[in-house]
Amino acid sequence: MREYSIAAIPADGIGPEVIAAGIRVLEALETRLGDVKFNFKSFDWGSNYYKKHGVMMPADGLKQLKPFDAIYFGAVGAPDVPDHITLWGLRLPICQGFDQYANVRPTKILPGIKSPLRDVGPGDLDWVIVRENSEGEYAGNGGRVHRGLPEEVATETSVFTRVGCERVLRFAFRLAQSRPRKHLTVSTKSNAQRHAMVMWDEIAEQVSKEFPDVTWDKTLVDAMTVRMTLNPKSLDTIVASNLQADILSDLAGALAGSLGVAPTANIDPERRYPSMFEPIHGSAFDITGKGIANPVASFWTAVQMLDHLGEQDGAARIMRAVEKVTGAGVLTPDVGGKNNTKDVTDAVIDAIHSSN
Ligand code: ATP
Ligand code: MG
Repeated sequence: MREYSIAAIPADGIGPEVIAAGIRVLEALETRLGDVKFNFKSFDWGSNYYKKHGVMMPADGLKQLKPFDAIYFGAVGAPDVPDHITLWGLRLPICQGFDQYANVRPTKILPGIKSPLRDVGPGDLDWVIVRENSEGEYAGNGGRVHRGLPEEVATETSVFTRVGCERVLRFAFRLAQSRPRKHLTVSTKSNAQRHAMVMWDEIAEQVSKEFPDVTWDKTLVDAMTVRMTLNPKSLDTIVASNLQADILSDLAGALAGSLGVAPTANIDPERRYPSMFEPIHGSAFDITGKGIANPVASFWTAVQMLDHLGEQDGAARIMRAVEKVTGAGVLTPDVGGKNNTKDVTDAVIDAIHSSN
């Protein structure tokens, strides 16, 4: 029996709904395979915890998480707690504390789901965006003086290190190499940001020499939005800085039909710490408690988690089950369907049980 310990942090909004659905699917996989076991432990951290304790997670939170094989994360954010508190109180400390420097965001159009792009269907858009996840524009470096006064000044200084750029670019080239098209697009803004972004370009050039079988190109981030929209087939693997890739991956999610299907993996490629798997979407309080949240992003990120744990067969089985269900038109309202979270989850579980 192969056993994995998984820390579940459902947190806020629809997080608990989609994580509960994902755990049901992983338990169905256990039953189907018979030789794998997931030991879940749930943590009640998040905005409700903050309202009781004044912090999003306990001071020794990272120490508690460290022994786990992986972290399965829901969403953070609440209407009555400022966003920078929820984000910097829970999600970012885990990403940065566990040096999950590669954030991997696959995007493709699933069967049965419509892209807002004309003449683009399943197979036409199949990307993986790699987001630098440890520094750059989100280094948290800056300050404010003369708060609220006319002379107020605020700074938010990006920090790019050679080590940080090199390791994420190497990760992206390696990922591109593992995909059939072996193509990487490096997004920068090196025409306007003439220090760090130029260094990023230079390092890309250097790292590319280690991967002679990978073709690659560079596109400025503004032109990237045009290329993604007008020429999606020209892209495969994409790498960009923390902020740029954040924006590009929301666009990617929308072009693939809904934020509700987009997953993300925060990876420590050196495996010193647990990696963290979550839907891209946030807490979505407008639909919280209604039972209609799309659980597909949560299932897809479970697929990423299994891949990372070395359970490729289980990962492929869940992905095939999801594609079968979306293809059969069992869809939540955000992707034009009439089904609820439970219908989609039950259908995916049935498809796992009947998979061969
Ligand atoms: P946060 O502040 O935590 O980012 P949010 O309220 O901005 O949360 P998001 O999750 O970022 O919400 O998504 C924006 C909108 O997209 C939501 O308000 C919701 O209507 C829709 N949405 C997001 N995820 C899902 C999902 N899984 N299923 C259905 N609709 C979703
Ligand atoms: Mg949001």
